[in-house]
Amino acid sequence: MNVAQFQADLRSWLDDNDLSPGPDNSLQGHLKQFARVSAALYEADWMRYGWPVEAGGLGGPAMLRAVVGEEVVGRRLAEPGPYSMLEVLAPTMIDYAPPELAAEMLPRLLSGREQWCQGFSEPGSGSDLASLSTRATPRGDQWVINGQKVWTSFAQYSHRCILLTRTGEAETPNHQAITAFFVDMDTPGIDVRPLCTMHGVDEFCEVYFDDVVVDGSRMLGKPGDGWQLAMDLLPYERSTCFWQRIAYLYARFDALIAEVKRQGATVDNELGAVFLALHTLRCRSRATQHRLADGGRLGPDTSIDKVLLASAEQLLYDTTRDLLPGLIELDETQWRSEYLYSRAATIYGGTAEIQRNIIARRLLDLGKE
Ligand SMILES: Cc1cc2nc3c(=O)[nH]c(=O)nc-3n(C[C@H](O)[C@H](O)[C@H](O)COP(=O)(O)OP(=O)(O)OC[C@H]3O[C@@H](n4cnc5c(N)ncnc54)[C@H](O)[C@@H]3O)c2cc1C
Repeated sequence: MNVAQFQADLRSWLDDNDLSPGPDNSLQGHLKQFARVSAALYEADWMRYGWPVEAGGLGGPAMLRAVVGEEVVGRRLAEPGPYSMLEVLAPTMIDYAPPELAAEMLPRLLSGREQWCQGFSEPGSGSDLASLSTRATPRGDQWVINGQKVWTSFAQYSHRCILLTRTGEAETPNHQAITAFFVDMDTPGIDVRPLCTMHGVDEFCEVYFDDVVVDGSRMLGKPGDGWQLAMDLLPYERSTCFWQRIAYLYARFDALIAEVKRQGATVDNELGAVFLALHTLRCRSRATQHRLADGGRLGPDTSIDKVLLASAEQLLYDTTRDLLPGLIELDETQWRSEYLYSRAATIYGGTAEIQRNIIARRLLDLGKE
């Protein structure tokens, strides 16, 4: 399918079908709105392009998904956070879940009937994810899970979780001792406790697992495949998913220009620097997606995309703070919460320091320390 034609047709459909959000600007409101938009786009088939037929999709290249994300998020019909979960977790299910499980579950996610979450990080195991200690112990055909996750985005609203656990013996090397499960969040023994961020939203949670029983059929891959699953997730996080976040940043850049003009300020240099950062990021992201589409395997080079994304996002909001004095510090505006949230860009999905370590060691071969 021709991507440009697909985008033109989608634009015209979105022009004709008003999916604008209502006034509810809470996290729950954002999730409801995302579910509403997903349902409408799924019903009209847009949300099914770029996903394999076996998983309820209509096939075609992943770039079609990027286009849908770009239009939906760029038009501010849905927030990039909830949408990014779909882009990260659905491909992981396709690659690792038993086919019949993927076929049963994916349409629920794509059509907005369900929200899923990603249970990877733990207290003490974020950057050093391989040290995670939530344990899954075999019991007949089932597994019993005990432990704690943290920073699990949207867990309190999620129906399922892709969960990393430790299954190997004490002497098993970390990277072979991790196993992933697809867990129903209403399973007895799961306790979800929301955490409030500094921008005042309970976006993520602590999740406790106390003798949680999961059937062996819910294992993703084989015992010990969990580390590879986590590594394979990165290309998705840093391709189609980044593309929609970039669309969002461009939309906010346009809003900043409008606000600056309204206030009559002359600030060409600062806005030029933001544009350059966004444009560099978009060019890089476009090239990454084409490499993926051409069958290339993404690896440590996507750390560059992550550094560019975080830098551009923070520059946009730092510039907003500088050009519109008081807007962020004094007013309860959307700009303030976005400014605060942009601080997380150098943390989530791999911190800036870790990305720079990867670039230095694995791309520039600069040695271990
Ligand atoms: C908005 C947001 C949403 C998130 N959503 C999820 C989610 O849905 N699911 C999930 O599983 N996790 C999620 N996370 C967690 C995220 O993956 C972790 O925060 C991240 O991996 C960093 O881990 P940490 O917080 O434990 O920090 P740490 O790893 O403890 O790092 C602390 C500091 O030390 C630095 N550091 C650590 N190791 C090194 C090193 N070797 N060299 C140099 N510096 C180092 C880090 O760069 C950082 O500055 C989310 C985080 C945020 C901010």
